[in-house]
Amino acid sequence: MPEEVVSTEDLEPPGTYGGLGECKLKSITGSAQQNSSTEDLEPPGTYGGLGECKLKSITGSAQQNSSNADKPRPKGSYVPRPRANARTLAFRRRFFTGTSFTEWNDWRWQLCHRITDIDSLSRILMLFKDERKAIAHSAQQRPIAITPYYASLLDKENPLQPLRRTVVPSTAELVYSPGEATDPLAEEHDSPVPGLVHRYPDRVLLMVTDFCSTYCRYCTRARLVGNGSKSRFNMPQLKRAIAYIEGSPGVRDVLLSGGDPLTLSDQKLEWLLSRLRRIRHVEFLRIGTKAPVVLPQRITLALTRMLKRYHPLWMSIHFTHPDELTPEVERACECLADAGIPLGSQTVLLAGVNDNVEAMKQLMHGLLRIRVKPYYLYQCDPIVGSAHFRTPVEKGMEIIQGLRGHTTGYAVPTYVIDAPGGGGKIPMAATSLVGRDGDDLLLKNYQGHIYRYPDPISEVGSKEAIKLSWD
Ligand code: SF4
Repeated sequence: MPEEVVSTEDLEPPGTYGGLGECKLKSITGSAQQNSSTEDLEPPGTYGGLGECKLKSITGSAQQNSSNADKPRPKGSYVPRPRANARTLAFRRRFFTGTSFTEWNDWRWQLCHRITDIDSLSRILMLFKDERKAIAHSAQQRPIAITPYYASLLDKENPLQPLRRTVVPSTAELVYSPGEATDPLAEEHDSPVPGLVHRYPDRVLLMVTDFCSTYCRYCTRARLVGNGSKSRFNMPQLKRAIAYIEGSPGVRDVLLSGGDPLTLSDQKLEWLLSRLRRIRHVEFLRIGTKAPVVLPQRITLALTRMLKRYHPLWMSIHFTHPDELTPEVERACECLADAGIPLGSQTVLLAGVNDNVEAMKQLMHGLLRIRVKPYYLYQCDPIVGSAHFRTPVEKGMEIIQGLRGHTTGYAVPTYVIDAPGGGGKIPMAATSLVGRDGDDLLLKNYQGHIYRYPDPISEVGSKEAIKLSWD
């Protein structure tokens, strides 16, 4: 066990795990300014989270802050070399007048100013009738939340813009289609203790929060995320899940997921990682997150310094479209990679968003440039109301064929279907093995040309070959 881990052994997350009740940063205009360190602040919890912290400051209170905007940043909130793309800069100036660059680059500020209702959304986007109707109907079932940063990447006028489609509801998500389910992967069935999924023998998925900074309209865990359910995510439950892992010597790999684990404070995250690191048979930790994409400000030096104490630690980052590859995201991935964290991408194939070879190739090339290895391309899970996002499987195969051999091998993710009912990930690939001709295998290359590979199957042939090699 690394020395640093020992030093964190007695870390306890303050109070009830994840629970805040309200966003303390709302007082950015008031009492929070008295805080000497942002380390004392808590992130929005899983229990209702942001409370009163609404976009009121889009036109109001944020402006009152400008006098404090450029105060020296306290330890832990420092963002190394902040970068901003021109579009985001213009958006901040227009919709968050008076908000400083420093505030904008504070992840807690971003969380507290998430866009979560129709009024806030209609200030920054021209909402269409369909979207308005969907928001009115879907808000109770599937909450809306978009960080100001991610909102800055949305097209104000075009409801069909890929990024906008992934976070702004449409009435299509109110349509239930055959084969859809609230828990299509039967995670609840493979859950020996609440908040933990044990499907494969040597690894478990640990759901550490139901909170995400930005909610995707196609989320597989829509049944859980954003509900602020105290009964589902709390400290006793988490301790039970950790005890289960301790008592399961076959588990060598723990994936922290949720919700988004990177919406927890550094302190809570470190508490979790240190507890897991103490378990001798846990060799490998992973974090599944979309924070570097929708909340790149979350990747602070304080965070990366803490994370690197818990190696081997890997990270799977949820990317959707090349438009997400901004300078901010590049900086976030650079910081994580510099901390020695191997980065892989997970992308859901979505109709009208990224379902073509060109968009996917651009995304995969862009990921390699920012040191992220394309890992999985997922067929969209059949959650309730997802038909408009799901493509035929053939489309996914076509995209992989359009990549394999046509670009760097590292740029080709594995296309998988997470089998409904709990069958796990099943790789989908157009077979390159077209048949056999005697002792030759017939193989098809990426251009469709047939090649032969000697692969003798006759017993005599094999024995002869072995004999010859020994003689
Ligand atoms: S980030 Fe992941 S868990 Fe959160 S809403 Fe999107 S898909 Fe769901």
